Amino acid sequence: MRLLAVLFPALALAVPAFAEEWSRARIDRLPDSAFAFIEITEDSTRLRHLPHHDERGAVDVPHLKSALSRIGQVRWLYPESEAAARRHLEEHLRELRRQERSSGGRR
Ligand SMILES: [Zn+2]
Repeated sequence: MRLLAVLFPALALAVPAFAEEWSRARIDRLPDSAFAFIEITEDSTRLRHLPHHDERGAVDVPHLKSALSRIGQVRWLYPESEAAARRHLEEHLRELRRQERSSGGRR
């Protein structure tokens, strides 16, 4: 985390909830749909990358931002996977911004 804060100081500030890490056990229990991209190796091992949906399928915003910040550090099996994962995550960001605009921020 300290390294991340050095590389992405603005992002680290914007995401105080970095502290709430998901345990490996919790991530292992998440459905495939919780991940940005799933790669399958030649021996059929599934590599599930960048979890950002919780057990109910809702987007977890701190994990979404964390996934976007870590996307360049993932060891991708196939180089094109990174772009696909990025498209998936950025689509969530756009959707969140649309929701923020349409809710107007005041009632
Ligand atoms: Zn997603």
